Amino acid sequence: MVFASKKPRLRAALNLQVAVVLVAMLTALWVLVWPRLERYFLLQAAEQNEVTLPLASDSLRAALDRYAPLPHLIAQSPTLGALLRAPGAPGAVAAANTELLNTALAVSASDVYVMGVDGTALAASNYYKGEGSFIGNNFSFRPYFTQALDGGLGRYFALGTTSGERGYFYATPVRDGPEIVGVVAVKFTVDAFEENWRGAASEVIVTDVNGVVAMSSQRPWHFRTTQRLDDEKLKAIALNRQYPLDQLTPLDMQRRALSGSADIATVGGMEYVASSAEVIETAGWSVTSLVPTAGARTQAMWVLAVFALVGLFAILAVAAWRQRGLQAAAVQRELEARVRERTDALRIEVEERRATEAELRRTQASLVQAGKLSALGQMSAALSHEFNQPLAAVKSYAENAGSFLDRGQTQQARENITRISGLADRMARISKHLRNFARRPDEASGPVALDKIIEDAVAVVEPRLKRDAITLDIAGPEAAAVVNGGHVRLQQVVVNLLTNAADASGPGGRVVLGAAPLEGGWQVTVRDFGAGIPQDAQSQMFDPFFTTKETGKGLGLGLSISFNIVRDFGGTLWGRNHPEGGAVFGVDLRAAEGVQEAAE
Ligand code: ADP
Repeated sequence: MVFASKKPRLRAALNLQVAVVLVAMLTALWVLVWPRLERYFLLQAAEQNEVTLPLASDSLRAALDRYAPLPHLIAQSPTLGALLRAPGAPGAVAAANTELLNTALAVSASDVYVMGVDGTALAASNYYKGEGSFIGNNFSFRPYFTQALDGGLGRYFALGTTSGERGYFYATPVRDGPEIVGVVAVKFTVDAFEENWRGAASEVIVTDVNGVVAMSSQRPWHFRTTQRLDDEKLKAIALNRQYPLDQLTPLDMQRRALSGSADIATVGGMEYVASSAEVIETAGWSVTSLVPTAGARTQAMWVLAVFALVGLFAILAVAAWRQRGLQAAAVQRELEARVRERTDALRIEVEERRATEAELRRTQASLVQAGKLSALGQMSAALSHEFNQPLAAVKSYAENAGSFLDRGQTQQARENITRISGLADRMARISKHLRNFARRPDEASGPVALDKIIEDAVAVVEPRLKRDAITLDIAGPEAAAVVNGGHVRLQQVVVNLLTNAADASGPGGRVVLGAAPLEGGWQVTVRDFGAGIPQDAQSQMFDPFFTTKETGKGLGLGLSISFNIVRDFGGTLWGRNHPEGGAVFGVDLRAAEGVQEAAE
């Protein structure tokens, strides 16, 4: 119950501690661990770029490599040469058209066409498209045309003016001897790569030399600008009709460095880990791979959550363990306090018991005395007879001695005086026994001679026995019997037993007093031939003040006092009915140490 007030306080203190530690742990996780975790997973995402980026740029490079030599090969065709030499010759255009279509189909090019030196397309693989065909269109504004006309390999990326399709153009001059008579161009579209990029985990952007998005896995990003275009560049784009000008709006891409090779890029509100690489084949072009950071962040969040959970469990486990410890300590303290209280209470109890015992001993001593006086009271009649009879004899001997002296019979007078002296000795002996018996015992226990005790006890009881004509038979003990006890107190015990036996026997009865060796001691028995111990007295006869004798005859203290005396000497007092009638009481006493062998 004492815990009732302590427990909630303890728990509240612990809860507060747990809350503080939890907040500290979460703060530490957020401030110290989260940035590292986030960076770790973003770098992992950057590693994914390291895979995507080469794939994207390789596919682009492969395409570029594949188409670059084509115009040159086509330019060798005699059909084209014939056409350029004589554009108006019948069948020349048709033959060239057919050849160009076959070539385009063979190499999977979007378009293959041939232009005169003025830039007008004379034949084209898409001749069959009618309005959509390049034939008749002038491409002199295209840089690839001018580059080829200058004798080099023309290359250019642009939105097709006729087709409306983005494409990469390669062009070479067609020569007739040293003279350039026309230009052959091959266009291939980029939709196929983009198709491959789409649906992958990362986005791909290919920017041209001006930073315009030429290709991307995201259609809305086409033609968006990643850097500011100055007027000159815009003018050139317009002149070359490279891109639709109205679509050249900024992509809104912010980049900040993540590592040496990767950035964090925000594009249209979405965040990515971006890595870029130059496309060597086309100067100024670059490929960028963008992996969304959301995945990396989610992974980092999960790991952080696992850390937080582990931390939480650890804190709760420690808290539970500590709470148990504190409770155990509180219980321990409580127990100790209770033990102290109980010990104090016990000490007080022990002191009280000691005081009570001392009081009891005092009471017992006075009861012993009372018991003896009671015995004396009972015996007083016998005693007065015992004294009166010798006194009467002394008186008559003295009177006779006087008469003998008067008559000069000194011899008779002397005999009488000798008898008087003998009687005086006898009375002195009786008086001595009585004095010893009545005296308060202050003796310590120790070796005492059993025969002397019996002798003195018998002397005290003798007058009473004589008065009632009770026969006392004494058997033992040997002179060497020495027991542990006190002379006067053991004498009192024997007197009590003899008195009770005399009471039970009644006038003319017989009492047998025996003393025999016992294992490790001596046994004194007093047997009578009376009515025996009444049934109801058997369990109570050793209780103080229990008596079956009529008022004035017994105090009920004799056996109780005797019992305690014998017990004090380490012996036992017992009593039972004899199978052959009457009662027998016994005192078992320990032989005194050191003289035990002599006693046996
Ligand atoms: P008291 O002799 O004053 O009655 P005791 O304590 O000596 O007190 O004896 C208690 C009772 O034990 C007696 O009243 C009697 O009933 C019984 N008792 C004791 N000795 C004998 C005996 N020798 N024979 C029968 N009963 C006895």
